[in-house]
Amino acid sequence: MAMLDLRVPLAGRVALITGSTSGMGREAARHLALNGATVVLHGFGDAVEIEAQRAGLAAESGQAVAYLPHDLADPHAAAALVDEVISHFGKLDILINNAGIQHVDDIDSFPTDKWDELIAVNLTAAFHTIRRAFPGMRERRWGRIINTASTLGFTAELRKPAYVAAKHGIIGLTREVALEGAEAGVTCNAICPGWVLTPLVSRQVDAKVAALGLPRDAVIRDHFLRDLPTRRFVETNEIAGAMLFLCSEVARSITGCSLPVDGGSLVI
Ligand code: NAD
Repeated sequence: MAMLDLRVPLAGRVALITGSTSGMGREAARHLALNGATVVLHGFGDAVEIEAQRAGLAAESGQAVAYLPHDLADPHAAAALVDEVISHFGKLDILINNAGIQHVDDIDSFPTDKWDELIAVNLTAAFHTIRRAFPGMRERRWGRIINTASTLGFTAELRKPAYVAAKHGIIGLTREVALEGAEAGVTCNAICPGWVLTPLVSRQVDAKVAALGLPRDAVIRDHFLRDLPTRRFVETNEIAGAMLFLCSEVARSITGCSLPVDGGSLVI
C-alpha cells in the first residue's frame, strides 16, 4: 500500500466555515486558505471589516475567498448557504459548522426565545448544512465535515442549559453522520474546545467581572483558567490546527470522534 502524504494540500478543495468572521472560525478559515483551499467566509459583523478580512486573506493566501452572511437562526437560510456555495463554486468539500452563540441563565428564567435561537444556531443549522452538503461529498467519495462542539458536549456547567443540550446534540449528530459517510470517504468529527478567549468568552468574562466586582485578571485566573490544568486559554490557532489535521488525507480513518482541545480540562 502507498504511503500517505502527511502534508495538507487542499488545492482544489472548496471549504465553508460558518462563523468565520470572528474567533476560532476566522483562524480556521485562514489556515485552510493558506493550505490551498478556496474558502467561503460566513458570519455577522461590520461590512467594511469583513471585506478587509476577505480581501486580506485572498491576498495573503493567493486563493479565492468569498463571503456569505446568512442568518443560521433561520433553517431556510442555513440550507441556502450551502446551496449558494455549491452553485457558485460547483461543489463543497469541507464543511466546518462552527458558528455559535451563548446565553447564560437559570433554567426557570431561561427565555424560551433564547432557547429556540441557541438550538437553531448551535445545533439545527448543522443538520441543514450537512443535509445539503452530504450528497455531493458522497458522490465524489471525499468529504470532511467538522462540527465545533465543546467540552460542554461531555459535561455541564450551571446556567447553560441550551448550550449544553446543543453541544451534547452536535456530538450525537457527528457520530450519526460519520456512520453514513464511512464507506463513501466522508468523515465527520467534532472539535471540543476548552476556554478560548474569543468575543464569545470575553462577554462572559465581562459579565463575571461585573457580577463579582473583582479585577479582570483575578476573575480570569480564578473563574476561567481554574478549569484548565494548563492554566492558559486555548489559542484559536490550536483549534485551527486540529481542524486542518482532520482535513488531511492521513485523517481519513478518523471519523465520528470528538476531539478535546481543552488544556486537559476534561481530565479533572
Ligand atoms: P465568536 O463569537 O468569536 O464567533 C462566533 C461566530 O458565529 C461569529 O462569526 C458570528 O458572526 C457567528 N454567528 C453567531 N450567530 C450567528 C447566526 N445566527 N448566523 C450566522 N452566524 C452567526 O465565538 P467563538 O468562541 O469563536 O465560537 C466558535 C464556536 O466555538 C462556537 O460554536 C462556540 O460554541 C464554540 N466554542 C467556543 C469556546 C470558547 O471558549 N470560545 C469553547 C468551546 C466551544
